[in-house]
Amino acid sequence: MIKILANDGIDPVGKKLLEDAGFVVDTETVAQDKLAEALLNYDGITVRSATKLRKELIDQVPNIKLIGRGGVGMDNIDVDYARSKGVAVVNTPAASSLSVAELVFAHLFTGIRFLQDSNRKMPVEGATKFNALKAYAGGVELQGKTMGIIGFGRIGRETAKVALRLGMNVLAYDLFPAEGTLPLTFQGGVSVEIPFKTVSLEEVISGSDFISLHTPFADKPILGAEEFSKMKPGVGVVNCSRGGTIDEEALIAALDSGKVAFAGLDVYDDEPTPRTGILQHAKISLTPHIGAATNEAQERIGVELATLIIEHFNK
Ligand code: NAD
Repeated sequence: MIKILANDGIDPVGKKLLEDAGFVVDTETVAQDKLAEALLNYDGITVRSATKLRKELIDQVPNIKLIGRGGVGMDNIDVDYARSKGVAVVNTPAASSLSVAELVFAHLFTGIRFLQDSNRKMPVEGATKFNALKAYAGGVELQGKTMGIIGFGRIGRETAKVALRLGMNVLAYDLFPAEGTLPLTFQGGVSVEIPFKTVSLEEVISGSDFISLHTPFADKPILGAEEFSKMKPGVGVVNCSRGGTIDEEALIAALDSGKVAFAGLDVYDDEPTPRTGILQHAKISLTPHIGAATNEAQERIGVELATLIIEHFNK
């Protein structure tokens, strides 16, 4: 009987798929320093981002034949080393793209109507200074505006699709220029293919009303003081990609000067202890790195992971 340790949990639907296929699935989390011993009783392990699978651990558990990562990034796994030892490493890169894309718009809808600030002030001043809080008038609409997308991979493209459905124009840049169509499906199964062609980074930066980042972590920020200075005044900036892709000090300065009207952040330089200047800024809408954390995405991740595991062991 094949035993899998789902050390960072697995959605119940995925767990049931595995069990129905005859696998034993344990979901109790084993502490990192106890894993070497515990894993001797398993054939495979699934993780999210919490559990680390480094060379030393991989060397100690020769019976592990598969490592499954629920989600995208595999920074917590020595992937090449595991594969060189004949261990299969699989992940579920597309399962959470729409959830991250929708979070981008949660931040955008928040920023264009100042919700990040009015949600902080209304509980305190709503009953005594209601009319004074009308300072939150002067919002804008998304429809007809230009959405700039930097990094046009899975999540960038989902973000573009949401923007197009809202009646926005899209300008997209990717390190690898691309051209094609984006399929949009509406109620009743009506579908349309919207053509796209990526443009230069400069065009996205200078031509967008809102800019969203969807690249992996790079060795230096993609948006810093120089890029902010070239943006349209009053631009909104969203980062649901990875900490380090925006220069946070430059962002605070651009927000303080009014060049950037608002920002929406799900990721930070110093996770899990983001700097106070970011956390307490009245123009920043904040979430604690929960882009992929919807019920639908977790279920899709669990099902995809279970399917990959079953396929692997039944080969
Ligand atoms: P992806 O690999 O499908 O797409 C990334 C794209 O960025 C690729 O097309 C690549 O060519 C492009 N790119 C790389 N470096 C670039 C650069 N310097 N400039 C412009 N383009 C560049 O990845 P994805 O699934 O779309 O994920 C995008 C990002 O979102 C990743 O950083 C991922 O870690 C992050 N993410 C965040 C959450 C969250 O919870 N907030 C969840 C999932 C993924």
